[in-house]
Amino acid sequence: MKIGYTVNPNADLFEQLNLSKKFDFVEITFDVHFNYSDKEIENIIRLLDNFLVIGHIHWELKFNVKEDHDEIIKSIGLFSKFGARIIVIHQSEIFNLEENVAYLKKIKEYCDSLNLELLLENTLNFETTLNILNSAGLSLTLDTAHALAISQSELDKFFSLQGRIKHLHLGNHYEGISHTSFSDKQLEDILSRIIKLNKDLTISFEIFKNINDGQVDEMESEEKVKLLLSLKNKIIPLLRRQE
Ligand SMILES: [Zn+2]
Repeated sequence: MKIGYTVNPNADLFEQLNLSKKFDFVEITFDVHFNYSDKEIENIIRLLDNFLVIGHIHWELKFNVKEDHDEIIKSIGLFSKFGARIIVIHQSEIFNLEENVAYLKKIKEYCDSLNLELLLENTLNFETTLNILNSAGLSLTLDTAHALAISQSELDKFFSLQGRIKHLHLGNHYEGISHTSFSDKQLEDILSRIIKLNKDLTISFEIFKNINDGQVDEMESEEKVKLLLSLKNKIIPLLRRQE
């Protein structure tokens, strides 16, 4: 299993990529309406230097808005240039189920043509997500924080998908706040489930807020990297012990 860093699309990409080198891979989301010059793209590719990349399509992009569709296509093309093999997409909330499925099938075809695997990230309940996965022929990026926002038993249902979970966003949900840190007990608990999944699984930290004695701490970039690195060091032996 590999542990990755999630870039903040609102921060400087170059700085974020440098930080990510302390992890096993980087998951990149471009800012909405990003525009890199050819020179910048060259520089990013040089900086990446064959580092493992997962592409994450910005969650705000709507499938039925022409400019957003263009941006989805542009993002996928760039992720491919960066050497990504996996693309993560959310379903578009303002669309109905059939339209989501039809659109995702189209995007899957495009990804297939570039030898990329398109994965759907869960933002809805298990039944609806499974319905979309089956209809569009996709595997899952399991976002534990999104599932926990519904309930612990909802997360259990997602874990039952086992090998169909190809990538994981690790984060907690604390009293209405999404993508928070875990207590030690919660962490051991969730890792004991994760260890039973695919051993090639990639895990991106999606922990953006630290919960300290019930207080919410909005972390600065450096503080976040420090916390995530210590978490990575804590997780690796736990994952090994259970292998
Ligand atoms: Zn996520």
